[in-house]
Amino acid sequence: MKAEIICVGTELLLGNIVNANAQFLSQRLADLGIDVYYHSVVGDNAERLKEVTKIALDRSELIIYTGGLGPTNDDLTKEVISNILGLEMKLDNISLERIKKCFKKYDKNMTENNIKQAILPKDCIVLKNDIGTAPGVFLTYNEKKIVLLPGPPKEMHAMFNNYVVPLIKQKYIIKSKTIKTIDIGESQLEDLIKDLIENQTNPTIATYAKEGQVDIRITGKGQYEEEIDKSINKIVEKIDKVLKDYIYSYDNETIEEVFYNLLKEKNMKVAFCESCTGGLVSSRFTKIPGTSLVFDRGIVTYSNNAKINELYVKKETLNLYSAVSSETAIEMANGLLSKSGVDIAFSTTGIAGPSGGTKNTPIGTVFIGIATKHESFSIECHFDGDRESIQYKAASKVFNEGRKYLLKINH
Ligand code: ATP
Repeated sequence: MKAEIICVGTELLLGNIVNANAQFLSQRLADLGIDVYYHSVVGDNAERLKEVTKIALDRSELIIYTGGLGPTNDDLTKEVISNILGLEMKLDNISLERIKKCFKKYDKNMTENNIKQAILPKDCIVLKNDIGTAPGVFLTYNEKKIVLLPGPPKEMHAMFNNYVVPLIKQKYIIKSKTIKTIDIGESQLEDLIKDLIENQTNPTIATYAKEGQVDIRITGKGQYEEEIDKSINKIVEKIDKVLKDYIYSYDNETIEEVFYNLLKEKNMKVAFCESCTGGLVSSRFTKIPGTSLVFDRGIVTYSNNAKINELYVKKETLNLYSAVSSETAIEMANGLLSKSGVDIAFSTTGIAGPSGGTKNTPIGTVFIGIATKHESFSIECHFDGDRESIQYKAASKVFNEGRKYLLKINH
C-alpha cells in the first residue's frame, strides 16, 4: 500500500513548529509495513489543500491528513476533502455529545463554533478523540483510504494507535530488529554491508545515523512469526560477521544501558570524574532506573585546582603535559579510584570547543582515563561536531570503552 502524509498548518510552513506528526506517522506506518512515498505540508488555505489532495488521490492509496479539524474558520481540512470527494456533511450527534461532555469535564464554556467539530462527512467512520474535542474521520473512496486526524500530537497519537491502526493493518505480520553500532560512520558502515543493502527485499535493511552511532533496522514481513524470525536472524548473522567490533546491542538498548547491565552482571561499582563532559556521563548514566546498584559517584573536576584537590592530580603533571593529556586522564581516574574505592573509575578531559584548540590538541581531542586496581590507562579520541556533539560522543565513548573493558576482563 502506497501511503502519503499531508500535514495542514501555516505554522508548519513558517517554521514555527517542527513537523513531528509526519515523523510519528512515518515511523508507525513503517512498523506496520506500509510504504510512505510522500510527505506534503500545506498551509490553512482551501485552494492549495485542494491541489495537494488531487495530486495525492492520483498517486497514493492511503492518505493521512493531520491538522485543521479545529473549530475556527481556518480549520478547513474536513470541508475541503468532503468538497473534492462530493460528500455531504452532516452533524454527528454522538460526536456532539462527546464534545459537550469534554467541555463540561474541564468546566469550560462551549461556544457555538465548537459544534463545527461534530459536522462530519456523511457515512464516514468517526474516530473517537479520547484526549481532545475534534473527532477524526476515516473514509474509503474509490478503494483509497483517507484519514483525517487532529493536529495536536497527543490527540493524534492516541487516535492513530487506537482507532486507525486496526483499519489499515495489513494481513501479514511485521517484525523488526534493531542492531546498534558505535564508533563507525554511516557511510563506512553502509559500504561494509553494501551487498546486503542492495539486494534487500524482505527483510529490508535501513540505517539510521544518530550522534556518533548508527542503528541498523531489519524489518521482515510474512504470514508466520517463526519464518520472519528466521529470515531476520539470517541477516543479523551476516551483519554480525562484518560489523561485530562495532555492535553493542541487538535489543535496542542504549550504550549506557549495556554498560550498566554488564556492571550489574559482574557485581562491580563505577565512578566517573569529568572535565570536558561536565557531568554528562553521570547524567546519562543515572537516567537508568536502578543505577544506585552499580554507581558510586560522579564528580565534575573542571579546573586544574579541582583536579589537584579532588583527584590528587600532580601539579607537575598538569604543568608538564597539560590538563588535556593522557597523563592527566590517568591520574584523574587513579585519584578517583583510590578516593571512592570503586572497582572501576573513568575520567574525561578534553577540548569540546568552540575555542581552545591547538595544533597538537585540536578541538574534539578527548582523553578517557580508566583505572582499576589492576591497571590504569587512557584512550585518546578525536570527535567532530560542535561542543554539544563532542560532549555527547565523548560520554558515549566512556560507556563503550567501559563495555569493551568489562567484556574482556575476568576479574
Ligand atoms: P485544534 O482543535 O487544537 O485546533 P486541529 O486539528 O485544528 O486542532 P491545528 O489547529 O492544525 O489542529 O494544530 C493544533 C496544534 O497542534 C498546533 O498549534 C501545533 O501545536 C500542533 N500541530 C499541528 N500540526 C502539527 C504537526 N504536523 N506536527 C507537530 N505538531 C503539530
